[in-house]
Amino acid sequence: MAALKLKAFYFTMVSIMAWDSTRTSRRHRSAAVVCITMPRRAAASSASRLVTTADFSSPIGDLMCGIIGVISKSEVSGDLCNGLLSLQHRGQDAAGITTFGGEFHAIKEAGLVSTVFSKEHLKKLEGNLGIGHVRYPTCGTVLRGDSQPFYTERPTLISIAQNGNIVNYNELKEEMIRGKEIFDTQSDGELILKMLASEVSKEKAYDADSFFNATRRMMDRLNGSYSIVGMTAKALFAFRDPFALRPLILGRKADSYAIASETVALETIGYKVERDIQAGEMVFIDKSLHVKSKILKEAKPAHCMFEWVYFARPDSVLDKVGVYEARLNLGRELAKLWKETGKQVDVVIPVPDTARPSAVAFAEELGLKYTEGFIKNRYIQRTFIMASQEKRDGAMKLKLNPLIKEVKGRRIALLDDSLVRGTTSRKIIQLLRDAGAKEVHFLLTCPPIRSPCFYGIDMSTKKELIAVEHSVEEIRKTIGADSLIYQTLEGLKRAIALPLCTACLDGVYPTNISEQTMARFERQREEEKQFHWSKV
Ligand code: SF4
Repeated sequence: MAALKLKAFYFTMVSIMAWDSTRTSRRHRSAAVVCITMPRRAAASSASRLVTTADFSSPIGDLMCGIIGVISKSEVSGDLCNGLLSLQHRGQDAAGITTFGGEFHAIKEAGLVSTVFSKEHLKKLEGNLGIGHVRYPTCGTVLRGDSQPFYTERPTLISIAQNGNIVNYNELKEEMIRGKEIFDTQSDGELILKMLASEVSKEKAYDADSFFNATRRMMDRLNGSYSIVGMTAKALFAFRDPFALRPLILGRKADSYAIASETVALETIGYKVERDIQAGEMVFIDKSLHVKSKILKEAKPAHCMFEWVYFARPDSVLDKVGVYEARLNLGRELAKLWKETGKQVDVVIPVPDTARPSAVAFAEELGLKYTEGFIKNRYIQRTFIMASQEKRDGAMKLKLNPLIKEVKGRRIALLDDSLVRGTTSRKIIQLLRDAGAKEVHFLLTCPPIRSPCFYGIDMSTKKELIAVEHSVEEIRKTIGADSLIYQTLEGLKRAIALPLCTACLDGVYPTNISEQTMARFERQREEEKQFHWSKV
């Protein structure tokens, strides 16, 4: 998704600039932690700032993130750090790890995993039990306070890392504030931690059954998407919302268990994938590596289709469906649609990187030549934003440079994953035309996006979505393509072959989203954008 990718690295930079400008503020002094090593008695997440719902609260949450938890007979910091490296595509804004080894340790900071964790840091993250988190750069990032994992010591040590978005964040937070709870951040990860801690405090013990009971009561009140890894001083736990919107997978190697957002994070650190955590399920693994699990809420699977279309790494398998395989299928589905047009092209080109498998399958299916038409600069994310914020129109060429020899004089089928506002697609098509392309036919592996996402994908407000108000022909003209073909909803469903959330395509949300929530979401996204632009 070229538009989303560009937005992602733009906001990374904005986030870091704004982070820097605010890190001396009261709230961000605790956010800019380099390394905290806490004796158990002293650990606590709550600072003294009371955030009310009149503050800049948002239902947007921490959006896309990557999470991992490890429990082992040996030290876990290496596995956690390497696992996070394999989840880096899920979040480049900040990274954090908490561990327990007699004492509680936490390191969390803005930046990439490779820059946040030095060898020295990893030595300090002692223990056989820990969790980690990478955060995606979004509009809401700066305003959402601390990076994750969050932790508390009341009523017992609990630390959690979250991927997802709580739709009724404002209501639940307001309720807790009325009950005298204090919040340090605007993150729904913190909300979940405090709700869980409050429910656990009603139990007599801190064992698996107590956590099952406490989590079930909390789940009864949460509306939204949440895949969570968490730890106590004696156990690793994880749970997934009843719709299993975000992925979560259990892996095992000798004397260790790991739970992560994607199989790639398990496999690259030597774990064998055991199974997906089920919709509405909680898993609790104690230090003797006894695994207990329970379905806490009735499962109604509605996996986010966007994980396969765009977000997850192609070498991951989520809910038993390979991401690479799904993308090949999406290309085959597009080939069927292309055949119906009777149009001819000379070459098939992907917008790197997500659309590459689909373009390969599309070309194969039609017996067409596949080639790389762009070379992507992988190192551009931060510097170019810093250097020329006002020159964003020229930015695309810095990121994607056309291979003129592969493009000039040719009729091109250009495949991309999705189209949100159309501005990025227009620039990409123009790059090909400037490089001498004769025709550019644009094909998208995702159907038209017509509704915002409330479950953790940063997709723009409804009024920014070009497909809401415009026909395919109008969009084609706007982006300057010779023809435009969208994936069909049926084709997408066949390609992934799972029960899916397709709410951003058809407006059918798996959880209750009130008109009021929608209106507030639109308003707050607008305000957040203005905040960010004013910082640039
Ligand atoms: S609304 Fe779209 S992006 Fe959001 S969870 Fe559903 S399918 Fe995924």
